[in-house]
Amino acid sequence: MKQADLEALEQTLASLPVDLKKYLADQLIGQISSQADTLLETAKSHLLCPHCGGEHPVKWGRSGGLQRYRCRNPVCHKTFNALTGTPLAKLQHRDKWFDYLRCMRDSLTLRVSAARLGIDLKTAFRWRHRFLKTSAQGNANPLSGIIEVDETFFLESCKGKRNITHRKPRKRGGQGNKKKKVDRIPVLIARDRNGKISELMDPALKKSTVHEFLAPIIDRDSILCSDGHRWYKTFSRDYGVAHHRLIVFDNQRVIGKEYHIQNVNSYMSRLKGWMARFHGVGTAYLHNYLAWRRLFETVPPSEEAWFRAAIGANQQQIPT
Ligand SMILES: [Zn+2]
Repeated sequence: MKQADLEALEQTLASLPVDLKKYLADQLIGQISSQADTLLETAKSHLLCPHCGGEHPVKWGRSGGLQRYRCRNPVCHKTFNALTGTPLAKLQHRDKWFDYLRCMRDSLTLRVSAARLGIDLKTAFRWRHRFLKTSAQGNANPLSGIIEVDETFFLESCKGKRNITHRKPRKRGGQGNKKKKVDRIPVLIARDRNGKISELMDPALKKSTVHEFLAPIIDRDSILCSDGHRWYKTFSRDYGVAHHRLIVFDNQRVIGKEYHIQNVNSYMSRLKGWMARFHGVGTAYLHNYLAWRRLFETVPPSEEAWFRAAIGANQQQIPT
């Protein structure tokens, strides 16, 4: 909408009597809610029963603005809606989700987001992690073509925990002991040249977990580029994936022109720079923040795109 048109509309609205203003305000809130509901209803092309995984449920009335379904499986016959069994079940005020996700897209703090939406801080915290939990479930992206992998480390943080027993607490995030491994949480990041990203956060990262993580997400025709770590060498041998191993030599990590890990490394530095604003992320929530950053890299900045990502649209539904 053009600025001049918007101003004209505002002027028209300003001249209306109060009862009409109130009516229109309610209408608009209703429209936003039903837009959110429609997105939720159409998020998954193929709805499975969250209780037993049964297919082709029947429509069973509506509840709380959403279509309700009933499972066809005679031993189940449970009812559910598009949110049942997801981290977003029972989350209230769907008309505010768009606004909230806009705050997340803009990396606003919880306090600012809460004030902007008129919700309390606890709710803002709960929403952030519910949305991120859903996004985190979309982590295992299949990757193809030239795939770059590398590891990075995050300082272990017990933020939010009442008691720290295994080491001395650090003040305000602080500096960890760089030599001491227990203080650092390794995260392996794989990124293909289409910008698709998958990461594995594992305090005990080892060959078997790396293999288990990579095997289902890497197309066998792809080319893996990594540093000198043996995990990747054994992976490429065991799974028959072409591999370029880049061993640091005079700070030069490029073999040929295209086989390098500079894209994944620059992603890591964007990730670290962005994480710095949170002054130490609690390790229990680290995978949620990794998912959040992934949204910035892979989702267009529109409200609807963020909403779809946050509700897990187009993700495969896994029966619980
Ligand atoms: Zn069922």
